[in-house]
Amino acid sequence: MTVAPGSTIGIVGGGQLGRMLSVAAARLGYKCHIFDPHQWPCAADVAAHFIRADYDDRAALSAFADGVDVATYEFENLPVEPLEVLGDKLRPGLQSLAIAQDRAREKEFIEQCGARVAPWRPVASLDDVRSAVAELGTPLVLKSRRYGYDGKGQAWIRLADAAETAWDAIGREPAVAETGVDFIAEYSVILARWGDGSHVFWDSPENVHEGGILRRSTVPCGAAVAAQVAEARAAALAIAEALGHVGVLTVEFFAGGDGPLVNEIAPRVHNSGHWTIEGAVTSQFEQHIRAICDLPPGLTGLMRGGAEMENLFGPDVECWANLVAERGAHVHIYGKGEARPGRKMGHITRVER
Ligand code: AMP
Repeated sequence: MTVAPGSTIGIVGGGQLGRMLSVAAARLGYKCHIFDPHQWPCAADVAAHFIRADYDDRAALSAFADGVDVATYEFENLPVEPLEVLGDKLRPGLQSLAIAQDRAREKEFIEQCGARVAPWRPVASLDDVRSAVAELGTPLVLKSRRYGYDGKGQAWIRLADAAETAWDAIGREPAVAETGVDFIAEYSVILARWGDGSHVFWDSPENVHEGGILRRSTVPCGAAVAAQVAEARAAALAIAEALGHVGVLTVEFFAGGDGPLVNEIAPRVHNSGHWTIEGAVTSQFEQHIRAICDLPPGLTGLMRGGAEMENLFGPDVECWANLVAERGAHVHIYGKGEARPGRKMGHITRVER
């Protein structure tokens, strides 16, 4: 069912992704309602309406559902069940959210779709962690099953006797133990899928992380990644189809020595796709709005020869005067309050000319 311009789009979550989705939606003539528990999330600055309530506040979610024609979410650490009140208005649906927010379910699902992940074990006790070390060897990374992002909730076990320290470091929470991958590079496949199964891909960015957080994404990717993109796209599409996903889906990959290994999936627009705002004909944000509103897909090709996106973490944003003085650079500042170390405060995209 097409949701026409002039309609209202609900966005659960009011961070920078919600902000950039709202800007893209406004350009197409939609109004956005943001649902977020924070005092004044940065998406509220650019949206038509802001509802401040907890993510499990059913009464508030019900009122939100009544006020929107279609709804989406901009991050995956949300309680699933309260969102059922949104029914068919929610795109992508709850299956994408439920799978992506639990690292063990996510890995099982990815493997069922025929894609590969690094060898892993679910762990729920120190004994499990020790068994995983014995079976998989080191290095191993423990990742909390839930509520991890940007490298948070993770601890490395480089030597077998570090098992207990790592288990303590992640708060003794249910987790996955995953083999450390000696990857050639990291990259993502970003696709958008429509309710009728049609889909588009963007160029795959090559991603560089620092301390578990994305620092830079570059298109076109290097030759080693390019050689894997066809296989990675097939894996990402199989995952999107199995989820019945509608909207943008991002699948992060390691370029392993013998092919693509899925790291994780994000059922949403993604930081590694920010370059598409100026670097592609249609941005991931506009395309997500097009897909959930059932408008036709926009072209996804590169505007020029390539682009590089760099994140601004914490105090990086204080250099804004230098950044805006750089001719031709596209500066995005998210308007968040405190520039805490590691907090994503903005990004800058340089498009080849
Ligand atoms: P994640 O939060 O799982 O996306 O992890 C953040 C980053 O940590 C990844 O993008 C990698 O740079 C690194 N990392 C995570 N898991 C592994 C692994 N199994 N092997 C090597 N590096 C990893």
